[in-house]
Amino acid sequence: MNLSVIIPIYNEEGNIKLLYERLTSVVGKMNLSYELVFVNDGSKDSSLEIIKQYAAQHPEIKYINLSRNFGHQIAVSAGIDNVVGNAVVIIDADLQDPPELIEPMYKMLNEGYQVVYAKRKQRKGESLLKLITAKLFYRTIDRLTDIDIPLDTGDFRIMDKRVVDVLKLMPEKHKFLRAQISWIGFKQGFVTYDRDERHAGKTGYTFSKMFRFALDGITAFSSTPLRLASYAGFVVSGITFLLMIYALVSKFVYHDVIEGWTSLILCVLFIGGIQLLVIGIIGEYIGRMADNIRNRPLYIIGETNIKKE
Ligand code: UDP
Ligand code: MG
Repeated sequence: MNLSVIIPIYNEEGNIKLLYERLTSVVGKMNLSYELVFVNDGSKDSSLEIIKQYAAQHPEIKYINLSRNFGHQIAVSAGIDNVVGNAVVIIDADLQDPPELIEPMYKMLNEGYQVVYAKRKQRKGESLLKLITAKLFYRTIDRLTDIDIPLDTGDFRIMDKRVVDVLKLMPEKHKFLRAQISWIGFKQGFVTYDRDERHAGKTGYTFSKMFRFALDGITAFSSTPLRLASYAGFVVSGITFLLMIYALVSKFVYHDVIEGWTSLILCVLFIGGIQLLVIGIIGEYIGRMADNIRNRPLYIIGETNIKKE
């Protein structure tokens, strides 16, 4: 098998037909053996029925139906665990990632790259909030982590089998695939493109899902937030020391005792706020550690037409 394409599906009934047509017209003319692996991530619409119809007619279509909605990253991971191609593509189902790019990406892979990702020049049809938060997020995570995570890049990419095999060895429960793939290394290149609007349906990434995803990325690749406590400690102690000198000088030099409910309550609340914030940050890490220690299966497959040898 030359090429496997992983497509996570969450309520994409309006997109599957066009996606299938565009994918097969691209991959069809590339003259390779391929499989399209649809991972249904607990869709509530008729996506699964549509995929199964296609699978019944076309032997190159594989499907994995997860037992419920596990989230985009886990759906893709389920695909990664079950593909057999020498090259593996991850692509969104909503046609925001143009399938036509697979051809140049595949070419670069054959020219010696192990990962070729697609970098967005522009994003169309997305809310201002999404654009700003996405931009902010990519810059923040770049600052916080030691590895170079490509800016403005989603999961749309092609990978060599070697990279896929390493990914399979990464056991973490909170996936942040794009950074995990950067972390793996090898020779990674990119193509640029204009990100289209979603073809049909609406985004499956709610604001809270995006927020959690961002925290997954930061906690998995940086311990800097944990250091916040020490930084805050230094700053607050410094300020306190200066205030102490000020208080002593007023009392003994100017014989003037500073009084004030306001300053007191502000200090107490300020320190209280910092403490809660830091505990919250520690909590984010501990919660993820707990998930990893419980070591539950990452996803549960309800049904599939993939036969494991
Ligand atoms: N998706 C998924 N599970 C989810 C949310 C999304 O499998 O819980 C899939 C979705 O069907 C699509 C891809 O992940 O193929 C990207 O999702 P979406 O287009 O909603 O995200 P956005 O492009 O708005 O960031
Ligand atoms: Mg999308």
